[in-house]
Amino acid sequence: MAFSLETIRLFLLDMDGTFYLEDTLLPGALMFLDLCRERGAAFSFLTNNSSRGKEDYLNKLRRIGVSGITEQQIFTSGDATLIYLEERQIGRDLLLIGTSSLERQFAAAGYETASSTPEAVVLGFDTTLTYEKLTKLCNAVRAGLPYIATHPDLNCPVAGGYIPDIGATIAYVEAATGRRPDAVIGKPNRFILQAAARRFGCQPEEICMVGDRLYTDIALGRNGCKTVLVLCGESGREDLPGAVHQPDLVCQDLLELCQVWQKSE
Ligand SMILES: [Mg+2]
Repeated sequence: MAFSLETIRLFLLDMDGTFYLEDTLLPGALMFLDLCRERGAAFSFLTNNSSRGKEDYLNKLRRIGVSGITEQQIFTSGDATLIYLEERQIGRDLLLIGTSSLERQFAAAGYETASSTPEAVVLGFDTTLTYEKLTKLCNAVRAGLPYIATHPDLNCPVAGGYIPDIGATIAYVEAATGRRPDAVIGKPNRFILQAAARRFGCQPEEICMVGDRLYTDIALGRNGCKTVLVLCGESGREDLPGAVHQPDLVCQDLLELCQVWQKSE
């Protein structure tokens, strides 16, 4: 193995395709959380999706039989964006394009989300997007304000297919204004890893991302964290040769990761 699991202080867990598949827990899911608790490693669920609030994820986890999870253990690209704004002391007056749950999250953190004199533009995954919002967004971007997007995904998988994600909006704004965001926070970019390191008080090399997608979860490893690919989601072994970044460890699922960890003491 390329690294010792004992050196990891924080596991970042992808959800869909890693921990559960729709409404079914994947093998070893609960055992992995127990093992983290037993070994004194922190864990947090990590999602790029900034359209939903933490309550949605907590409710889903409870519904499928996962107990003892707190809001602190759900880390979204929205959280990471707030840490990014805080660190860079970008002003409190924003034009935020996002769902009402993202607006509430930013308002609770002390931001004005619909300022008439915004100091920056934050774009989230907005499933309530309107032409009016797009126009406002394009005007603010054209005016040259700092422009931050919560994550890069082009599509969001849903039952039966996909819905267009924030990346499609980023492309729309670029077509209209010629500008791309100054920073895109979520996986596979370094900002979300830096934000997680700050939030959980550890170094990037003490963090391990566990996920099923090579180009987001595993590509996060190029920024200095360790990565474990699980094969129970969208990637198979045959996808590995074409990957931009190779995982430090490949396991069938979280159950096999538990077994590797238990053997490594
Ligand atoms: Mg996944």
